[in-house]
Amino acid sequence: MTWFCAKQFFDGTNLKTNYRFQVKDGVVTSTESDQGSNGGGLNDQGSNDFLCPDVQFNGLVTPGFLDAQVNGGGGVLLNQAPSVVTLKTMFSAHQQFGTTSMLPTLITDNLSVMQNAADAIAQAKSENIEGVVGVHFEGPHLSVAKRGIHPSDQVRAITDAELKVITRNDLGKVLLTVAPENVSPDVIKDLVSQGVIVALGHSNADFNTVLAAIDAGATGVTHLFNAMSGLQARAPGLIGAALDDERITAGLIVDLLHVHETNCRLAFKAKSAKGVMLVTDAMAHVGSDLMSLPWLDSTITRVGDKLTTPDGTLAGSCLDMMAAVRNSQQVLGIPLEDVLHSATQVPAKFLGLNDIGHLNVGAKADFLVINDNMQIEQVYQSGRLI
Ligand SMILES: [Zn+2]
Repeated sequence: MTWFCAKQFFDGTNLKTNYRFQVKDGVVTSTESDQGSNGGGLNDQGSNDFLCPDVQFNGLVTPGFLDAQVNGGGGVLLNQAPSVVTLKTMFSAHQQFGTTSMLPTLITDNLSVMQNAADAIAQAKSENIEGVVGVHFEGPHLSVAKRGIHPSDQVRAITDAELKVITRNDLGKVLLTVAPENVSPDVIKDLVSQGVIVALGHSNADFNTVLAAIDAGATGVTHLFNAMSGLQARAPGLIGAALDDERITAGLIVDLLHVHETNCRLAFKAKSAKGVMLVTDAMAHVGSDLMSLPWLDSTITRVGDKLTTPDGTLAGSCLDMMAAVRNSQQVLGIPLEDVLHSATQVPAKFLGLNDIGHLNVGAKADFLVINDNMQIEQVYQSGRLI
């Protein structure tokens, strides 16, 4: 049992000062601030004059980040080597930048790769591998017109074979990105009823088609602004629907390459922080010095922090979550409290995970210490310093 004390503390929703929390067996068991205590503590008078018997932090303590879109890291890509070893490599590459939970993301691929990825996720879940909270299938039921780097010959209609993989009950949280013009509201309704979280993306759908999908239970939009029907005067498209509809949590890639900073700010203004979820869409390059990555019969090349295929199509990012948070605060000018909310509690709520994304009593003790320069100083996973 350990007490952790912080002068600056973010609980998943609010910034606080002079706060401490107790961790036992990897779980937060008690919290106390100068505003009062919850679950008892060292000082029942709620005094400002905190004694800290165990660990005192000078930086800002925040829950660890949850990234719902991680294609790769540490030099490896889930699509290219779907295995538990890959998942571990990806996670440790991202963990150093503050990600303590992730949805490994498989982009459009053939059925056997989908099955292999699902097997790897299921094995990671059964072995309680840290950081893997489920899986994000980004495709294959997308729009060819908005496929980005997804292979066009694998973009396809949904069949029982894919449904069988997607609705497995041993994968943890399953997020499925679909183009609503290619997956009917009835299928979306059925998926949602089986616990699948449905996001809309890589789509050219018109507004009414999008609305029907949201009415059917879709709750997410994947990388808002990228690879989707645009916002026009009499045709709001997927972008307009995502900005306007409070039922939607929108993933946003704040690497300042995928989305213009004005549009990023617009998303925070239209939806407020509770409707925006920071994601990386990271490729193998994060946590690696990889410059070039074989991709299908082509290559993804890194120039600076930009990844493209030879025709100039953006091919995921080199972004890490700490950089996404830093860009949002320092370049977009979003208040720190809002930015951290979008990197912690918003994705956790979106995925229905109650024990992460905050540091209240009962939370998994996954937390970070961030310094004044907005760099990671320390990462704790299940109460243990990494
Ligand atoms: Zn994508």
